[in-house]
Amino acid sequence: MPVTVRADLASLPDYVAGRKVPGAVILSSNELSGQAPASVLAAIAEAAADVNRYPAMGCDDLMDRTAEHFGVDRARLAVGCGSVSLCQQVIQALCQEGDEVLFAWRSFEAYPIVTQIAMARGVKVPLVDQAIDPEGLLSAVTDRTRVMFVANPNNPTGTALRTAELTSFLDRVPDDVLVVLDEAYREFVTDPDVPDGLTFLDRQNVAVLRTFSKAYALAGIRLGYLVADLEIAAAVRKVGIPFSVNRVAQAAGIAAMTASAELMARCREVVEERPRVRAALVELGYDVPESQANFLWLPLGERTAAFNEHCLDQKVVIRAFAGEGVRATIGLPAENDAFLAAARTFPR
Ligand code: PMP
Repeated sequence: MPVTVRADLASLPDYVAGRKVPGAVILSSNELSGQAPASVLAAIAEAAADVNRYPAMGCDDLMDRTAEHFGVDRARLAVGCGSVSLCQQVIQALCQEGDEVLFAWRSFEAYPIVTQIAMARGVKVPLVDQAIDPEGLLSAVTDRTRVMFVANPNNPTGTALRTAELTSFLDRVPDDVLVVLDEAYREFVTDPDVPDGLTFLDRQNVAVLRTFSKAYALAGIRLGYLVADLEIAAAVRKVGIPFSVNRVAQAAGIAAMTASAELMARCREVVEERPRVRAALVELGYDVPESQANFLWLPLGERTAAFNEHCLDQKVVIRAFAGEGVRATIGLPAENDAFLAAARTFPR
């Protein structure tokens, strides 16, 4: 009898990463354009000199600094190898085989993947008008529901739930269902009516997930954090792979928080570009939902593949979701101009 792998893995979707096209404008993965600050690169180099040694097991300095920087209780914190790792750890910490994990669809593409890996059952609740539908999520809750992921703003559509809507939703989620407010794009939110998830942490069944991959320019380092109820945070830490937040990542995260003024200024430049790019696309006749993130969503339906190919021909890499639409990161002004030029010359 040969060794066999889990039969259900045959249906596990692949995570589609942005294409690497040399010399192209890269607007496919919602990264911050331009290198990490020089001080962060220096801290990375310094930490790299000691890579023969294991990192700090409990990420003590990083945890202290993260708690202080974001004004959260250290005991309620978990750090992970990217926030995607924390998504999986949450499910592993809370779900038995066959328990249900709810999320809007389309949303962050890793939700169904990590759910299935963790032996839970993913339940997709359709978007309404490109936005997360809180009522739909609530009506999909069953006795088996243990976790809901709510990306605010949502990836890939950029739409965000406002305070009244989110509060009313959280008021009606059963107490034994954990709502993970995934705020990967929080630093790009400009509408004051899009609430900071941390303000909901007085509720035992709310957790906030954030990342250093976007606003903190550290996508390649793989670092994210979760703030949750004490016991939940401890369980999420417990199921993490030992040392998965490596030495270089710990140092980079600390240095990035120290450099946060510079990074937040760069985020402001991104969000200043956002209405310009959106207005130009709308002027060209594209349908583009209002975005509170560092990307725009073009629901192109069956024209998606052709649009994507056209952009690649123009050496602009965006992210296509087959048959649905494309997502373009807001980059530096010249990068956005290259994308707009491609959108302008796309035959309509
Ligand atoms: N959540 C959302 C909504 C995202 O869009 C992403 C990245 N695309 C992540 C989480 C994961 O980010 P990372 O693992 O790089 O922290």
